[in-house]
Amino acid sequence: MRYLILSDIHSNWEALEAVIEATKGTYDRALCCGDLVGYGPDPNPVVDWVRTNCQVVIRGNHDRAAVGLEDLEWFNPIARTAAEWTLKTLTPVNRDYILRLPQGPVAVDGFLLAHGSPLDEDEYLVHATEAAHQFPYVSHNLTFIGHTHLQGGFAWNGKRATQVCRAPQECQLDGETQYFINPGSVGQPRDSNPQAAYVIYEPEKRFVKFGRVPYDVGAVQKKIRDAGLHTTLADRLSLGR
Ligand code: ZN
Repeated sequence: MRYLILSDIHSNWEALEAVIEATKGTYDRALCCGDLVGYGPDPNPVVDWVRTNCQVVIRGNHDRAAVGLEDLEWFNPIARTAAEWTLKTLTPVNRDYILRLPQGPVAVDGFLLAHGSPLDEDEYLVHATEAAHQFPYVSHNLTFIGHTHLQGGFAWNGKRATQVCRAPQECQLDGETQYFINPGSVGQPRDSNPQAAYVIYEPEKRFVKFGRVPYDVGAVQKKIRDAGLHTTLADRLSLGR
């Protein structure tokens, strides 16, 4: 079994479409660690695809926000306006689908899917020290996480957490070690690389491949501006920030 792991698509259809094209025939099941919507101009095409093609999907904080499950006071004004726009734009079917998304972590085939961290869907795991506080409480050897939009991963040997699997590269997991692996963001990467990010995972080989693929950033930027969403959301896509 081969898995395509996606996260933080953020209503960016062109980025998702590029990942779909680049990975065609290389996986058996697609999974998503949340934040299907928010920020971007195409919530409905993204949710339509995820609904029909991803076998397991958990919610992210922007998904909660876009369907009224979140107090938007906690969002910055740009993200809040995008969430309100998304709520107006989603079709009833897609809004209902997002409303029903489960909170992570969810177990799949011996590993976990989480949005922020296995213990808190809203926590950002950016540094190994933050990951170190979580590992002792997680029963599974492997958890896929999202939320930070930073492709890569952390490893725990029972004493220390270290940053491993510095993307982009392939990563052979060790059966004795615990991992948090972030596939990166499809629709709004923040690691200074504007290309859409994803992971292909093969459990039998314990093999993780970090993928990046270019997409038509200019087309998405135009749609963001045409929709009246904040221009910052367009500008950041070409910087990967
Ligand atoms: Zn996100």
